[in-house]
Amino acid sequence: MQRTATRIRLAFTVACVAVTIASGLSALAAGEAVGVGRPVATSPATPPSQSDVPEHVLHALRERRLAIPVAGVARSALRDNYEERRDRTRSHAAIDIAAERGTPVIAVDDGSIAKLFRSVPGGTTIYQFDPDRRFVYYYAHLDRYEAGLREAAPVRRGEVIGYVGTTGNAAPDAPHLHFAIHVLDDSRAWWKGTPVNPFPFLVERVR
Ligand SMILES: [Zn+2]
Repeated sequence: MQRTATRIRLAFTVACVAVTIASGLSALAAGEAVGVGRPVATSPATPPSQSDVPEHVLHALRERRLAIPVAGVARSALRDNYEERRDRTRSHAAIDIAAERGTPVIAVDDGSIAKLFRSVPGGTTIYQFDPDRRFVYYYAHLDRYEAGLREAAPVRRGEVIGYVGTTGNAAPDAPHLHFAIHVLDDSRAWWKGTPVNPFPFLVERVR
C-alpha cells in the first residue's frame, strides 16, 4: 500500500512537469493550432499566487460552485498538490486526482468546449469555458473523450465529457486527472490565462 502510494506520487511528479508546460505554455502549440501568430511563451519561475488575481475574480470563481471533476471522488479525498515543485523552476499549477482508468470525467461548470487538444505531454485534453468566458477549465491525460463531444458545444455542470486515463506523459500505472483553472485576460483566448489553484474552489464549495 505504502509502496503503491509512493509510486503514484512519483509518477505524478514525473508526469506533471510537462503537463504544466502544456497548460501553461500551451500558447505555442495552441497558437499554431488556431492559426494565430506565435504567442510569446511566458513562463514565470513560479506561477502567480492566488493573491495576484483580483478578489472580485476569485469571488466570481467561488460563485461558480464547481463540481468535482472525477465521478465518485469525495471532496475530502482531494489533495492540494498545486504548489508541488515539478522541477527547479516550475510548480505544478494544477491538481491531480487519482482514479481508475475509465472513470468518468465531469464538467465542473456550465459553459462550452473551448478546445479539444492533443499534446505530447498532456495527451488527450479538454479546455472548457465557463458561461461568461472568464475562466478556462483544463482536463488532461484523458483516456478518451465522451462520444460526440465537439468544440464550441455547450456543456452542463455534471455532464460526462471524458474518461480518466494516462495519455500524454502520465505513468501508465498511475491514471489520474490533471485539472487546472486559468483566469482569462480580456482577449478571452483559451490558451492565455493566469493559473489559480483549483483546490479551494473544489473543497470549499458551500456544503
Ligand atoms: Zn498534474
